[in-house]
Amino acid sequence: MDKIMVVSCEKVKKVYKVTLEDSPLYPDGKGGQLGDRGTIGNNNILSVEKNCVFLDGEVQLGENDLYIDFDRRKDIEVQHTAQHLFSALAYNKYSLNTVGFRMAEEYSTVDLDSKDLTEEVIKEIEKMVNDAIKISIPVETSIVKKEEAMTIEGLRKTVSEKVTGDVRIVTIGELDTNACGGFHVSNSCQLQIFKILSWEKIKGNYTRFYYVAGERALEDYYDKNKLVGELCRTLSCRENEINIMLDKVISDKKSAELELRSITQKYAEILAKDLMNNSENINGMKLVFYPENSMISNFLPKYIDLSEYILIFGESGQFTVTSKKINCKDYFDFLKTTEEVRGGGNESRVNFKGDLSEDLVFQQLKVYLSKL
Ligand SMILES: [Zn+2]
Repeated sequence: MDKIMVVSCEKVKKVYKVTLEDSPLYPDGKGGQLGDRGTIGNNNILSVEKNCVFLDGEVQLGENDLYIDFDRRKDIEVQHTAQHLFSALAYNKYSLNTVGFRMAEEYSTVDLDSKDLTEEVIKEIEKMVNDAIKISIPVETSIVKKEEAMTIEGLRKTVSEKVTGDVRIVTIGELDTNACGGFHVSNSCQLQIFKILSWEKIKGNYTRFYYVAGERALEDYYDKNKLVGELCRTLSCRENEINIMLDKVISDKKSAELELRSITQKYAEILAKDLMNNSENINGMKLVFYPENSMISNFLPKYIDLSEYILIFGESGQFTVTSKKINCKDYFDFLKTTEEVRGGGNESRVNFKGDLSEDLVFQQLKVYLSKL
């Protein structure tokens, strides 16, 4: 267990901001990388900034135990070195420049400065990265003065003018030389496997690649394989038949929906006749009530003679009143005087909702009609 000096500790909302002396912790997001995690005293490190961390509990000032999660750091090394290899091979073979990098907890992204990469090219770069992993290339770092760094030939990216002090140079055999302050593995074979998950065009001219490497890639393969197995069981088919089966399921669903729609429409036509025959007469006006919000109720206005009848349908606090016999908007205004309702519409149709029972809405409509 390492030791760390805590200089200050203050509560910020529900967490504690802790200033450290000579923090060995890698900050979140620096160079696109994930930051370190671990514990200080008995408290978990939630996030890391330069010389300061956020903890989930209070810590005493002075010397404290520090535990750094090195499994996480190993994963960070793997994902980050994978980015070096991917960027290097895309540059070496296709002159593509890396214009962005971000590591997240589940995957990482690299942005290349082209929008026209074919699937073949992408597959080729992925293969080259995996070939480089296979032949175990040492990854070496050296510290040089900035002036010296500026003169190194074959540097993938020139050292920024903003950099001050010494520069760390990371080389992967003959493949790559680049200035970088992040974490790296010591040999390409530690990456195990590199997999591009997907890619998309961004900012008009760039392509963003989502990738995983090492344990993350193995975990991803395990998950995808499990998913494929589940799909095969659900669809009762082999792996290579999943697409065909899904096309069939979607096409069957479409046909069933069309058939259901047609049957519903026919049923609504028959039901409308029955509802009109059994309508309630209020103050000389014929009222039809259908207590449902369904495909059937949506077809009813088509088959109920709205110049003669007033149709109200709905349930669970959501209703529609439609007719040419009354001013539906006027009824809605009447309802608003006693009930809390939201909605609107026009003279021949209003839709509204509120905490209203079917009974109440129907009774209020009857009261309204009896006053006309
Ligand atoms: Zn690096």
